[in-house]
Amino acid sequence: MLINQNIMNQVAKDVYQISLMPRNSINCYLLEDVLIDAGIRSSGKKILKKLEGFEVNTHAITHAHADHQGASKEICEKLGIPFICHEYDKRRAEQGVVAEEYPNPNNFIAKFQMSYWAGLGHKISRTIKEGEKIGGFAVIETPGHASGHISFFREKDGVLIVGDVINNMNLLTTRVGLQEPPKMFTANAEQNRESIKKLFNLDPRILCFGHGPVLYNSGELEKFIKKI
Ligand SMILES: [Zn+2]
Repeated sequence: MLINQNIMNQVAKDVYQISLMPRNSINCYLLEDVLIDAGIRSSGKKILKKLEGFEVNTHAITHAHADHQGASKEICEKLGIPFICHEYDKRRAEQGVVAEEYPNPNNFIAKFQMSYWAGLGHKISRTIKEGEKIGGFAVIETPGHASGHISFFREKDGVLIVGDVINNMNLLTTRVGLQEPPKMFTANAEQNRESIKKLFNLDPRILCFGHGPVLYNSGELEKFIKKI
């Protein structure tokens, strides 16, 4: 029984947003019985509390960055569930070397993230790739921000878990609006731009971001695509 539905933001059927920081600045999502992403290291308690009363059988990450895998180990261990990601992010997820692909992994923000946000690595139970499904959602490979970045798309109602291919917030000012992810955290910005176009071509209607509020698209995405 869904006992705490009221405190989770229901985005669509069987899709819930779990906002972990003020202003939706870091999010994870429950898709059916799969938890997508897990915030930063200190997010575990909050996520587990929100998930109370829901059946959760798998945990997947869009990519192995510190603000997405932070509490993955804790959650998988507490719930006794498998941890999955794309093959290209597997080693980083297992070793917790989450800043490795940043253009400059030694800058102070990367060091801060490693010290305070990143979770310990955790064994990946299996990897997933394009063409596979997670419940009713197709796995979409969207490399660029991270080489193993994946998104999830449900065609019947256009729900898209974007991950960090696009941010719906300026991460410095928290101002809401579509933008490319910061270059300093992006392995390959050109490749990410191709992934943005790939997602646009799916014609998504409800976009769920790692950073920023959910967008019920009414032309914002088209405007954004024209600008980049
Ligand atoms: Zn992120």
